[in-house]
Amino acid sequence: APSGVTVHQTLPRRVLAGLGARHEIPAETERLGAERVLLVSTRSSRGPADELAAALGSSLAARFDGPVVHTPVEVTREAVAAAERAGADCVVAIGGGSAIGLAKALSGRTALPQIAVPTTYAGSEVTPNLGETENGVKTTRRDPALAPGTVVYDAELTLTLPKGLTLTSALNALAHAIEALWARDATAASDGLAAESVDGVLTTLPVVLADPDDIAARERLQSSAWLAGLCLAQTRMGLHHQLAHVLGGTFDLPHAELHALLLPHVMGFNLPAVPRTGERLARIAGGDPVAAVARLARSHEGPTTLGELGVPSDGLRAAAERVAAAPYPNPREADADEVTELLRQAW
Ligand code: NAD
Repeated sequence: APSGVTVHQTLPRRVLAGLGARHEIPAETERLGAERVLLVSTRSSRGPADELAAALGSSLAARFDGPVVHTPVEVTREAVAAAERAGADCVVAIGGGSAIGLAKALSGRTALPQIAVPTTYAGSEVTPNLGETENGVKTTRRDPALAPGTVVYDAELTLTLPKGLTLTSALNALAHAIEALWARDATAASDGLAAESVDGVLTTLPVVLADPDDIAARERLQSSAWLAGLCLAQTRMGLHHQLAHVLGGTFDLPHAELHALLLPHVMGFNLPAVPRTGERLARIAGGDPVAAVARLARSHEGPTTLGELGVPSDGLRAAAERVAAAPYPNPREADADEVTELLRQAW
């Protein structure tokens, strides 16, 4: 589009949200005309997966319990074989970004319709993006056909999230929304989604951390993560996501913890270049947004620095050079020295 013209494009999708929404999944499979469901889940979602298996009754064709982080293609091949053996005509995935990613990869190869039932705040269920690893190399692609056609948000499924993952996964969502606010291709629609998402995360995360069973707060946190996922789908992410991709891929780091610890550093670097975004975030946060996010990030009982996460200090420069050599669109230009300095601070 010519400069000054923004483009807002959405994917067709049906979203069910609310406490107990998971009980509607069998009706949703019927709506798709599915009679042979492949159920993908991880060990941590065994409870709700067993419950769903029972509710599906004779329309459950097979289960696949082996999703692995970063969607290794060997695992996807096993899942495709399981779907073919079972004659599956639909895939339902319950779990975090790893389970959702496997269903996307499977659907990309088989065209099976997907119902995604997220149990973290990562947001993958509403994006057309997929990262896959083969022989240790991660490649990402973007294809509207990969996005699940049906998404079910039931905050009761997030009650089992440990406190640490609640915190880091919510900050992963916050990172999508904040990068959407300063994205060059932001639209009025993405701004609205991002502002509500940031407000929702900053308002409810402290409440949920103080009382992980506060279901009303969990529900708004999950809704905020949904909006954050839409931000990820609708705008091009910048330096924060690039650092997470490069460091996560090079050093095989835990996704949510890495996002959580990087975010305040990237905000501190970028916000001077986008004062209006800074003012907007300050209004939403009711004070210094970098300090507010840093306080949350540092409250994590697990690793809060790149060093603690296992990144060797002599690896920072090479990562910074890779980032600076082919930068994602970012409001502030960053050369290799500046990125190295940012990473040193996060280290
Ligand atoms: P994850 O799916 O790997 O889950 C992390 C851990 O939490 C796992 O051990 C899982 O079993 C457990 N878990 C999940 N839900 C739980 C619950 N409700 N209760 C208890 N334990 C639970 O982690 P994630 O952060 O959700 O997803 C990360 C993956 O998703 C990465 O591979 C990342 O690249 C991908 N991702 C992709 C997109 C996209 O748009 N394509 C977006 C975000 C993340």
